[in-house]
Amino acid sequence: AVPTSIMVGTGRAATLGVLFRRGDALQALDGVRMVAFDKTGTLTEGRPALTDLDLLPGHDEAETLALVGALERQSEHPLGAAIVAAAQARGLQMEAAEAVEAVPGRGLRGRIGGRALLVGNARLLSEAGIDIARLEPLARAQAEKGRTPVLVAIDGVAVAALAVADPVRVEARAAVAALRDMGLEVAMITGDTRATAMAIAADLGIDHVEAEVLPEGKLAAIEGLRARGPVAFVGDGINDAPALASADVGIAMGSGTEVAIESAEVVLSSGRIGAAVDALAISRKVMRNIR
Ligand code: ADP
Ligand code: MG
Repeated sequence: AVPTSIMVGTGRAATLGVLFRRGDALQALDGVRMVAFDKTGTLTEGRPALTDLDLLPGHDEAETLALVGALERQSEHPLGAAIVAAAQARGLQMEAAEAVEAVPGRGLRGRIGGRALLVGNARLLSEAGIDIARLEPLARAQAEKGRTPVLVAIDGVAVAALAVADPVRVEARAAVAALRDMGLEVAMITGDTRATAMAIAADLGIDHVEAEVLPEGKLAAIEGLRARGPVAFVGDGINDAPALASADVGIAMGSGTEVAIESAEVVLSSGRIGAAVDALAISRKVMRNIR
């Protein structure tokens, strides 16, 4: 009877777009007490757009956006794509940027026409010794709306705060509510600014937030959460692979990177996060039948 109910459960899950890559995943899911989500691309659509550009006095909007776009053209981060798209939409001429370097978990630095640029979060500018006091209130106002502030410094001077919004997925709120109704804790893990993460978590009804997590820190974040009980982690990115492997149950979005899928026990082939709720519900039902 045991293998039969597991087979039936696995088959039912497959029709809902839930693929169990390992036979014991159905059982492990039943023991989970917390579901932790990666924010970008999992709880949010992962299609950010530039919404605001707040300049300090004495700087030109088009010039600043052209410089930032020129730098971000060499980035692979979705924030960069949003800024480049905005610069292109305005028909701005972007010069060639030189010596562009990604600073992990922080942003970019590089040079354009003899000027030194820094583009990224508050940590990036602060660590470079730049006074960001006049940008902080602008950044905070954007973060409180759930937008990611992108700060800009030119030749060591703070110049502007851009804001990029990545809308939450329409289905995310219902998925979080369903998990909480099942008595599970819900957490969010993100590299994003704490204030931005808290605003999005409040909007979604998420009770636990790990923010400003560096790419190599996601694994440690999962280990920290596991101290409270078994954790399922839902993610999609290259950076998510170690966390997927270390969680009690790793759940990868089917739309995610190959390395994420290979690190997970469960794959949501439909790309719906609601399928994670289905997976948990099915595992509970099957395991109750077996006991
Ligand atoms: P996440 O994918 O969760 O945003 P990352 O480690 O990729 O995590 O980035 C962490 C933070 O570093 C971002 O939220 C952003 O503030 C900043 N950042 C990273 N890359 C860029 C970039 N190309 N342009 C601007 N900011 C960036
Ligand atoms: Mg990410």
